[in-house]
Amino acid sequence: MRENPIVRQSGMTFSELGLAPAILRAINEEGYDTPTPIQAQAIPLVMQGHDLLAGAQTGTGKTAAFTLPMLHRLAMSASAKNKFGGIGTRVLVLTPTRELAAQVEESVRTYGKHLQLTSTVIFGGVGMNPQISALRRGVDILVATPGRLLDLQEQGKLDLSTVQMLILDEADRMLDMGFLPDIRRVLSLVPKQKQTLLFSATFSDDIRKLAQGLLNNPKSIQVTPSNTTVQRITQSHHLVGRGKKKALLTHIIQTHNWSQVLVFTRTKFGANSVAEHLTKHGIEALALHGNKSQAARTQALQGFKAGTIRALVATDIAARGIDIDDLPHVVNYEIPNVSEDYVHRIGRTGRAGRPGEAVSLVSLDEEGFFESIEHFTRQKIERVPMPDFAPEPGERGEPIAMGRQTIWGGAGKPPSREVMQAAAKAAMQEMRQRLNDRPPRGRPGGHGGGGGGGARPAGGGGRAPTSGSGRAPTGGGGRAPAGGGRPSSGKPPSTQARNYR
Ligand code: AMP
Repeated sequence: MRENPIVRQSGMTFSELGLAPAILRAINEEGYDTPTPIQAQAIPLVMQGHDLLAGAQTGTGKTAAFTLPMLHRLAMSASAKNKFGGIGTRVLVLTPTRELAAQVEESVRTYGKHLQLTSTVIFGGVGMNPQISALRRGVDILVATPGRLLDLQEQGKLDLSTVQMLILDEADRMLDMGFLPDIRRVLSLVPKQKQTLLFSATFSDDIRKLAQGLLNNPKSIQVTPSNTTVQRITQSHHLVGRGKKKALLTHIIQTHNWSQVLVFTRTKFGANSVAEHLTKHGIEALALHGNKSQAARTQALQGFKAGTIRALVATDIAARGIDIDDLPHVVNYEIPNVSEDYVHRIGRTGRAGRPGEAVSLVSLDEEGFFESIEHFTRQKIERVPMPDFAPEPGERGEPIAMGRQTIWGGAGKPPSREVMQAAAKAAMQEMRQRLNDRPPRGRPGGHGGGGGGGARPAGGGGRAPTSGSGRAPTGGGGRAPAGGGRPSSGKPPSTQARNYR
C-alpha cells in the first residue's frame, strides 16, 4: 500500500465508509486501504449532503476527500440533461491552475473507472474546439479553471443549470490569483440550491467572506494547520552573495549528484534564466510556468517524472498541483515574500512517507523574508555556511522590485522612502530596457494561451497577475538579470533594485 503523505492515517478502512462497491474497488486498485484524516472526516459529511468548509493543503489526500463522496452521490442519483440535449453537468469543480484541474480530473477518472459517469477538464492555453464538443455532448463532472469556463459561457457553449454540487479546490489560491470576480460570475450560473464544498489551505478574511456567502450551514473540518511544515523534511539555508546564487545551485546539485530537484523562483523570467544556466552547466533542466504552452508544461512534467530532466524550475503558481510522490529535494532559489508559500513549496518533498530535503538560498535582500518564515513556521532553520558563495564584503541588502512595486525583504527596517522610490524607478527603467532589448515574439504555441498581453488572468490559471499574488522578482541569480533568458542583453544598470520580471 502506498503510504499517505503529510498526515498520519486515520486508523479506519475505506470499506467502513459506506462508499459504493465500484468506488471501493477502484480505491483498492490504487493500493489504498486507509483513508487519510481529511478523507475520514470529509467523506461521511459529503455523503450525507452537507456543505463543507475544509482546511487542508496539497498532500493530505484532499482530492480523494471530495472526489470519492462526490462520485458516490452521483452514482446513487439520476443523470441530468443539458440544454443541448446532452448529459447535464451535475458536478462542477473549480481549481486555480491547469495542472491542478488536470490532476483532479485524472483522479475522477481513476476512482470512477468502474462507474458509468463521464467527465472532462476545461482550461485555457489549449484549443477550444474539443472542449466545446465535449460540452455539447455533456458530462456528469466538469473540472475547470474559471477563466476558460467563462470564455465558453460568453460564447453560449456552457450550461451549468443542472449543477447539483459545486467544489472549490484551493480556494485561497484562486483568490490570490485574482479569480474572485470570475468565481462570482460562475456562481451566478449555477443553481442556488446545491451542495457546496470549499477546500482551502489557509483562511483569510476574504476566504471566510466567500464561504459565508456561498455555504449553507456548513460543517467545518481542518487537518494540518497551514503553518506546520512536515517533520521529516530536513530544512537548511545558506546565506549567499546576490550574484552567486546560480553558481551555488549548480554546485549543490553537482556535488550531491541530485537526480531530481524542484527549484522555486518568484517569476517566470527567473525560472527561465535559472533553467538555462543549469542546462549550460550540464544539468538537464526545464522551466515550468504559465507562459509556457500546455504541451510544453506537460512535457516538462513528464520528463521530470521520468528522470530525463534533473531540475524543474518553477514559479509558485505553476508548481501548485504538481503531484510527485517521492520528490527528494526542493530548493528555494528565491525566498518567498509570503511565508505560507514556503510551507507549500517544501511540502513538495517528504511526501509519501519518504524523507525530503529543502534548501533555501538566502541573499541579504531576503533575510527579512526568511526571518518571517521562521517566525511563521515557529522554527529556527539551520544556517549552513558556504564561504565560497557568501556575500561579498560590503554587500548590503537592497529593495526587491516586483513589477510596479518595490518591497523590502532585507533584515531590519526598510530604507527611507526616497531610497525605495529611487529603487523602484531604476527597476522600471531596467524592465523597460529589457523589454526593448527583447526580440519581437509571435503568439505562443498557436493555442492562444501563454502569457503576454492577456487582459485577465483567465484562460486557465497559469497566467496569474503575479504582482497581485504578492510575489514576483526572481533573481536570476542576482546581478542584473540576463535579459529575457538571453545571455546578458543589458549591462547591469546602476540600480539599487533589480527587476527580475
Ligand atoms: P492530494 O492531497 O489530493 O494532493 O493527495 C496527495 C497524494 O496522496 C496523492 O499522491 C494521492 O494519490 C495520495 N493519497 C490519497 N489518498 C490516499 C490514501 N488514502 N492513502 C495513501 N495515499 C493517498
